[in-house]
Amino acid sequence: MTAASIDGRAAAAALRERLAHVADFFHASTGRQAGLATVLVGEDPASGVYVRAKGKATREAGMQSFSHQLPADTREGDLLDLVAKLNADDHVDGILVQLPLPAQIDSARVIDAIAPDKDVDGFHVVNTGRLAVGAEALVPCTPLGCVHLLTQQLGDLSGLEAVVIGRSNIVGKPMAMLLLGESCTVTIAHSRTRDLPAVVRRADIVVAAVGRPEMVRGDWIKPGATVIDVGINRVPANDGKTRLVGDVAFDEVARVAGAITPVPGGVGPMTIAMLLRNTLVAAHRRAGLNLPEGL
Ligand code: NAP
Repeated sequence: MTAASIDGRAAAAALRERLAHVADFFHASTGRQAGLATVLVGEDPASGVYVRAKGKATREAGMQSFSHQLPADTREGDLLDLVAKLNADDHVDGILVQLPLPAQIDSARVIDAIAPDKDVDGFHVVNTGRLAVGAEALVPCTPLGCVHLLTQQLGDLSGLEAVVIGRSNIVGKPMAMLLLGESCTVTIAHSRTRDLPAVVRRADIVVAAVGRPEMVRGDWIKPGATVIDVGINRVPANDGKTRLVGDVAFDEVARVAGAITPVPGGVGPMTIAMLLRNTLVAAHRRAGLNLPEGL
């Protein structure tokens, strides 16, 4: 391996420590803790793990966590009523409705119902639009974490060629917007892209957000490029169990790239750290406080 491994766990731990100080400052300034409400509908085990991890991280950062668990057969109207209650609750600065939702509920309608200034996932169309025009927005946590890792690794990203593989509203598109904001030259690739390896070979920065295990190969990578692997895929392991791999063939790519995020331990830990960051940003804006430097 020649590439530097980008340590997302260390970066997230450092950020969370800083956020805990900001949370203390918020508490001291306003007399209340910043608060994040999470909503989980149904019993999906993976979603349950994510939501509990988010609640625990929120409390560890010195913020209040309000967790709401609803049964799998919850009607859309009942979920919308809960969202309306959380919108009106002054102790709640951020609202996170864990996706995916059961089939009887229209996710887009639920996301649209969240007050944009509490939309800490950054999925509301108002925040999407604000990000697109470069205005003050709440930005989706995973791409925000990727940019944090990139600027920490490379410093100024201005002028670099970036290829984002994947065009989802959650990762690919906001990722591309953020890189554009950093003055990269950005290409968004997707399932219809012709000759994807040749497109990726142009890139100084590759962000893979596809959901296909180890799709990005070593000979796709320009020597020295920085590779951010967003993918989380569970595949069979030799011992009959399963293991997590990214969208990038790590061993091959690490022989060519300048730096690469591992899976696990790369982008994943940054997502929760950025959720805490977004909650504090929302709390400061709602309280009319200036954001601390660099938040
Ligand atoms: P998604 O909504 O399924 O989008 C996948 C994107 O990949 C689509 O735009 C699709 O193109 C593109 N794609 C699929 N096959 C392709 C191919 N053969 N060549 C090129 N592009 C292809 O997925 P997502 O929500 O963005 O998530 C992507 C991955 O990131 C998943 O593994 C997910 O688990 C992971 N993830 C991780 C975190 C984290 O915290 N680390 C957070 C969110 C997601 P089309 O649009 O043309 O179909």
